[in-house]
Order: sequence, then structure tokens, then C-alpha cells
Amino acid sequence: MTLTKEQAEQVREQILEQLKSLPKDKIGNLKEQVKKASPKELESFLQQMQGQGGECIFCKIVKGEIDTIKIFEDKDILAILDIMPASRGHIIVFPKKHIHFIQEVDNPLLNKIMNFVKVLSPALVDVLKAKGLSIYLPQGQLAGQNVDHFFINVIPRYEGDNVAIGWERKKADKKELDKVAKLVKKAATNTVVGQLEEEKKKLLKHQKIQEASEAEQIYKHVKKRRP
Ligand SMILES: [Zn+2]
Repeated sequence: MTLTKEQAEQVREQILEQLKSLPKDKIGNLKEQVKKASPKELESFLQQMQGQGGECIFCKIVKGEIDTIKIFEDKDILAILDIMPASRGHIIVFPKKHIHFIQEVDNPLLNKIMNFVKVLSPALVDVLKAKGLSIYLPQGQLAGQNVDHFFINVIPRYEGDNVAIGWERKKADKKELDKVAKLVKKAATNTVVGQLEEEKKKLLKHQKIQEASEAEQIYKHVKKRRP
């Protein structure tokens, strides 16, 4: 991805803004470099700042240190309008807590985020008169996760919007497919079954505690009624 001139200027401003929060001895001549940097250099600057200790941009948004256009906010999640949208009405939804990958998001929070995306989606299509939506959840830099903070893109789609989320479908070898299927099935079964058993154990434990406390209540009640 190369930034357009306009995007590069926005990024330049954003980086200069972020530099203000760094200690002076760390800035050195960075400010001058950023002012002169080409779009490509700016892009790698931005990546460096997000990747190294420099605080995550979404966390800064949560703290109100960076101005954004908020669409929805509660104590756990935030949805903002992307200022460099893929299409009209491109929204980014993320947890307020700094979490990198989906597997690190606890279930109640993940449910909340997904449920928000679920109810937001048809509303967006409706109000923007879009023809569809792409819900895109990148994991890892290679996949387009340019911020180390879990987020979901909700991208309204329009006729001829030039949004490119796609891949070339390649012919695969049957043997290779079998091999992959075996690996993936095993991993899926192990993790899913493992997790279900964990949940079952937790549930049983919870049930036992509840039963015990109910039994205690009944016992107390009966005891009280004794003459
Ligand atoms: Zn963060």
C-alpha cells in the first residue's frame, strides 16, 4: 500500500502530533525528518511508531488524546469513522482494552463486539443505501492489521467502489488438500473439544456451588421453621 498525497499529509500531521508526546531527548531530529519524508518513508515511520513502545493509536483514541469521529461508545467498546475510508461510511469497531488478537478477547467482550457489528450492519446498509458490507477482521501485519490492537472493519459496499478484498482462487492438489484437511481437522477438534470440556467443567462447578447454596438456603429455611 502506498499512501496518496492527501493521505501522506494526514499521516505526517498525525506523526508530528504523536511526536509531541515523546520525551525531548528521544525526538532528536525526528521532527525534521518527518517534515521532509516522502509518502513511503512516512508509511514506515508510522509502522515503526505503532510497533515500538510508542503507544498504540487506538489506546490513544480511547484516552481522548487523538480526535476522532465517534459513532458509538460504551464502557467496553468504541466505534469510529475511518478518516481514510475504504468506502463511504467505513467504520472501525474495537475494544477499549488493549488486546492484540481475537484469541485474547474474552468471550463476553467478543460477544458484545460481534453483537454490535451484527446490529450495526443492517442499519448502516439502510442509512447509507449501500448494496452490501464487507466485515473484515485482520490478524497480524501481513493480513493488514496495521495497529496491534484488535479491530473489525465494517465497510459498506457500493456499485463500483473499488474496494479490493479478494484473492485469486488457485487449483490445489488433492493430496495436499487431504494433508491440510487432516492437520486442520485435528487442530479444530482438539481446540474446540478442549474448550468445550473446560466450559463444561466450569459450568458443573458453578452448578455445584449453586446447588450447595440452594441446599443451604433450604436447610436454613427448614431449620427456621422447626418448632
Ligand atoms: Zn491499544
